[in-house]
Amino acid sequence: MTVIESVASEADADPKMPPGVLFEGPVVDAKFLDSYIAFGFMIGGSIAALVWAVWQGIGRVEVSVFVGMFVLTTIGIGFMHRYFVHRSFRCNPVMRTIFAAIATLAVQGSILKWVSNHRRHHLHSDKPGDVHSPYYDGSGNRYLSFVKGFMHAQGGWVWDQATTDGEYYAKDILADPISMFFTRTRWYWYAISAVIIPGAIGYAFGGVHTMIGCVLFSGLFRSYLMTMATSLVNSVCHSEGHYGYRRFKTDDGTTNELVTTILTFGEGLHNNHHRFPRDAYLSHAWYEIDINGLIILGLGKLGLVHDIFMAGSRAARAGAEGGKASVPDTEAAV
Ligand SMILES: [Zn+2]
Ligand SMILES: [Zn+2]
Repeated sequence: MTVIESVASEADADPKMPPGVLFEGPVVDAKFLDSYIAFGFMIGGSIAALVWAVWQGIGRVEVSVFVGMFVLTTIGIGFMHRYFVHRSFRCNPVMRTIFAAIATLAVQGSILKWVSNHRRHHLHSDKPGDVHSPYYDGSGNRYLSFVKGFMHAQGGWVWDQATTDGEYYAKDILADPISMFFTRTRWYWYAISAVIIPGAIGYAFGGVHTMIGCVLFSGLFRSYLMTMATSLVNSVCHSEGHYGYRRFKTDDGTTNELVTTILTFGEGLHNNHHRFPRDAYLSHAWYEIDINGLIILGLGKLGLVHDIFMAGSRAARAGAEGGKASVPDTEAAV
């Protein structure tokens, strides 16, 4: 996809900010309402989970559900990122429905919002207009303090008085009935992920007491912790010189960082990703373990997804063969 036509009026635009960013109106109000409710439940639930863990204890069932749902939703965000944002591969509507469901179960906002924010992030990576850069705040002012910038990238950006215009960045999502069904019904999926699945499993294996532990610890606390793990990609993996290493020279502060890569199943190979944004598989060395990428390649072998995009490995092969390492596709946004 190329640059999408702007629908933002020039008169409304902030001179420091690129088009496609909304500063007021019902979309900004809706963003705040979504964030207040989601983080209210997740943070309130996390505090209650820690109190419950100390007071009542946490058992095998709670830990197993925590791990199982953490793994499922981490894979879900992998699909959110590589399929819905970057179109790294193609699949049929049944697979798209499954990917949309587990992506929404991650409780990280709707597909429409996640895709719009992330495409804007790539287009303005670590420049004014980036949604969650450690270098610039939500109004395009440069951070002088590393800690302040890091905290903005890690989560403060959610509370910026601005939001991304889906009409500008995600027309394909708006036109996809499956993505929009999950966008409209997101709250049901959040409830299924954070309350219903953990509660049902807890009740089945240990009655009401385990059910409460599972909802608090394996549902709400896990959703918050998993969101924080994903956010390390925005903070840690954009902190050149502080964390991780750079395989490629890119026009931003991206790095590949080991701990984030483990916690996010490969998304922490973020310098590789910004160099080849559309690649389905992010690893460029044996020690760069990209579990989400391996899952996509495995689904490809099974015939469940197809047209898997691999510009990075083509470039590496061209280099190894002594050819000019020309890369046909390095588009920034999608
Ligand atoms: Zn990034
Ligand atoms: Zn990306």
